[in-house]
Amino acid sequence: MSALKLKVLIAGAGIAGPCFANWLAKTRLDTSITIVERSPSPRITGQSIDIRGPAVEIIKGMKLIEGVRSRHTTEEGTAFLNSSGKVFAQFNVGDSFTAEYEILRADLAGLFLEATEGLGNIQYIYGDSVKSLEQTNKDINVTFTGGSKDTFDLVVAADGSTSKTRSLILDDQVLKDTYNFLGQYTAFFSIPSRPTDPKLWQWYNASKGLGLMLRPHRNTSTMGAYLCITMPARGQRDPVVEDAMDKGTEDTKRMMHKYFENAGWEAKRILDGMDHAEDFYISRAAQVKLPKWTNERALVLGDAAFATFGVGTSLAIEISFTQKKFYSNYFIHFGVLI
Ligand SMILES: Cc1cc2nc3c(=O)[nH]c(=O)nc-3n(C[C@H](O)[C@H](O)[C@H](O)COP(=O)(O)OP(=O)(O)OC[C@H]3O[C@@H](n4cnc5c(N)ncnc54)[C@H](O)[C@@H]3O)c2cc1C
Repeated sequence: MSALKLKVLIAGAGIAGPCFANWLAKTRLDTSITIVERSPSPRITGQSIDIRGPAVEIIKGMKLIEGVRSRHTTEEGTAFLNSSGKVFAQFNVGDSFTAEYEILRADLAGLFLEATEGLGNIQYIYGDSVKSLEQTNKDINVTFTGGSKDTFDLVVAADGSTSKTRSLILDDQVLKDTYNFLGQYTAFFSIPSRPTDPKLWQWYNASKGLGLMLRPHRNTSTMGAYLCITMPARGQRDPVVEDAMDKGTEDTKRMMHKYFENAGWEAKRILDGMDHAEDFYISRAAQVKLPKWTNERALVLGDAAFATFGVGTSLAIEISFTQKKFYSNYFIHFGVLI
């Protein structure tokens, strides 16, 4: 093993950042890993995500599969409903959008945080971000938004699909046309559940591109609610939605009321619940596709590198694992034996 300590900075404590840190911290390399998160505290929120394909084996390798299983959301399938709540099509686990491993993003992020905090060579810094990077021929000088400076061997951007750190790593020409809005906005939040709610992903498509969904939580007091606005064309933006999102959560909730109040099915209940939801989160569905993920000693990972619709979390887990190979190449490239 190298006598050198590999000093790594990861921007973003979501899914990809901690997952990558976990694997890197367990290699034979002597590592010191800092994860800098813009939010002032851990963002342990988010609704159902599924873990599929190779990501399941990777979670097993992290010895977290029992943790995932015990936090299963209890969803048993997906049902499509009409405006009065009548089911017109229903699918079981595996035949539908409901996968074998369904877990709240909140729970998965919590599991990753817990697993990495216990490793000793990973430290988290909250409420800060990378302001600038300067690559030299032996390391990267980093200036943080909070004013401090430090030097790292490797910098990783794992700060989501709208990553700011990405543009400090890859130049404008590489990033040109790599973020493509898909023409859909989705708000996610928790609302109170009722004993009569089925353990199904209930999905109702209203008119004018509006979609409403309810999904079970493992606990018996809350459930996940989703409000989707789909534009007629890929890439098309709704100026009213954009304006509300720019202004913040309260304006966005007010806008949602106007859009969904007459949508039918459980619209009233969902909107009432939304008003009290503290975990309200809205995102633009986007595809991020970069021609390259690395630039010398810096790497882009997770949604920042390859956001896609529906399988973002599994992909983030898979690529975080496979990037270990990058590190072997990295050290060979810089002439250090591992
Ligand atoms: C709060 C939250 C809730 C989510 N809820 C859902 C959900 O319900 N369903 C779903 O399918 N997907 C959800 N997602 C997205 C999902 O987590 C990702 O699509 C996927 O897991 C890939 O993860 P990621 O780590 O690449 O990105 P993310 O999970 O988006 O994590 C990126 C992290 O980087 C942080 N960050 C942003 N900018 C900076 C910066 N400049 N410097 C440092 N840190 C920064 C963010 O605060 C975040 O913690 C959510 C994401 C977040 C942040």
